[in-house]
Parts: sequence; C-alpha cells; structure tokens
Amino acid sequence: MNNIIAKTGQSWKLIFLLVAMLLAGIAMAYALLSISVLSNTLFYMYMLSGVWIGALGFIYVCFCIQCPTCGDKWFWNAVSGKESGEWGLWLKSLNACPKCGESFDT
Ligand SMILES: [Zn+2]
Repeated sequence: MNNIIAKTGQSWKLIFLLVAMLLAGIAMAYALLSISVLSNTLFYMYMLSGVWIGALGFIYVCFCIQCPTCGDKWFWNAVSGKESGEWGLWLKSLNACPKCGESFDT
C-alpha cells in the first residue's frame, strides 16, 4: 500500500464518488429509457437529480480528499492541474504529499 490516499484512509471517498457517478448514470439512463412514459416534470426531475448527484459527489471528493498534515487538496490538484489523460495516473502514483512531503509511512 504505497498510495497516499490509501495510506491516509481516504480510499472510501473515491468509492463514494464511483457510487455517486453510478447512481447519477442510472437516474439519467432511466429517464432517457422511459422518456415516452414519463411526464415532462418527472423527466426533468430524474435528469436534474442525476446531474446533481454526480456534481455533488465530485465536489465533495475534490474538497475532502486532502492531506491530513497541510490540507493540500490532492484530488482537486489532480483534476485541475493535470492533463485529462494523466491526472488519474498522477493521483495513483502519489506516495507522498506533493506540498509538504509527508509520506504517512507508519
Ligand atoms: Zn501535505
């Protein structure tokens, strides 16, 4: 276990994001598949809740995956500062905080 997110016990936040994205996808897929039977209001409700669940999950993870020592927001740094194809790998290869250098090895 070298990754700092795992070492600081924050992996569940990534799983939380995955579940939120999945729920958002299901809500929107359901709305699109049932477009002929749903009323306009219900259709919008499903689409909107899908967008909100996804967005809130993402925002939560952006602000809450952080360094316990200096508060650096690792996930946010990854998605805002790296190329779209690279941030996942960058995040995965982090084994010490890029800001304060803490490696959280016990
Ligand atoms: Zn730090």
